[in-house]
Amino acid sequence: MTKVFILLLLLSPYLMSDGHIFVYHRFDDTRYPTTNTSIKELKKEFNYLKKNNYKVVPLIDIVNKIKAKEKVPNNWVALTIDDGFKTFYTNGLPIFKQYGYPFTLFIAVKYTEKKYKDYVSWKQLNEIKKYGDVEFHTYAHGHYGQMSDEKIQADMDKGLSLMKEKLNIEPKLFVYAYGEYDDRVEKIVNEYNFQAVFNQNIGAIQGECSDEYDVDRSALVGNAPFKLYLKFKELCGVTFHQPTTFPKNKIVKTVEVTLEDKSIKSADIFISNNGWTKVKVHNGKIVWNANKRVKLNRIKIGVKVKSKIKLMVLSK
Ligand SMILES: [Zn+2]
Repeated sequence: MTKVFILLLLLSPYLMSDGHIFVYHRFDDTRYPTTNTSIKELKKEFNYLKKNNYKVVPLIDIVNKIKAKEKVPNNWVALTIDDGFKTFYTNGLPIFKQYGYPFTLFIAVKYTEKKYKDYVSWKQLNEIKKYGDVEFHTYAHGHYGQMSDEKIQADMDKGLSLMKEKLNIEPKLFVYAYGEYDDRVEKIVNEYNFQAVFNQNIGAIQGECSDEYDVDRSALVGNAPFKLYLKFKELCGVTFHQPTTFPKNKIVKTVEVTLEDKSIKSADIFISNNGWTKVKVHNGKIVWNANKRVKLNRIKIGVKVKSKIKLMVLSK
């Protein structure tokens, strides 16, 4: 009996995966299906977390584990919301309060400052911060990849000083607009000494091998497969060699990746608009003549070994 119980425990998904961070945008706003989460779906997800013993922790707890190079407990989940849409305040927040779940709201400051009608006001933010953390998601939600160093700095400075002035908050955490970043952008942002920076790549947080300046978050919008996301683990020791910049003529020619774990014999490679393709791994090395056409100006390349996953983003 005891053996069966232990086996069941070992097989239950929350014990088999790493920590997870999710990102929401709008709540019960059917005008925008690709960035919306219905309240019905949100409650379903929260009930699932509750029933399966997941622990919803403040985002900073996961950050602290990564910084200490410690394993993130398998049942930890952190919830984030991007942009600062009004529907978080009107529709989402009551549910977070009902379940007592902590959250981190990343705001694009300009939308609030200029009183855009779909976004939360400073007054609402001052109320929201009693229940969760409010952090920084740029001033004008611009494409940093296409902006000069000076323009990026000016955008950061303006947003940060308004957050200090209106909310008395000095942000510790940052999210790139559109999940867009490259080495140059990363360098500028890192000068602001945030404790962690988040992307919007599907993944999981192992802790010991995670990078606090490039933390994966899975978006729970539209028809996102929530339960599948919870099963993913972080694939540690991945280095992407090719492509490292947005592909010319939108053709991804060769995908070259090395894996630290030399015992891996096969993997799946993801290319936006092309899904997953199984490839062979020789002595930790993947060299695949993909020749795949992509359609978007922001694409993701990923590698998956069983349920372990790592994605990266390339922008035009
Ligand atoms: Zn955003």
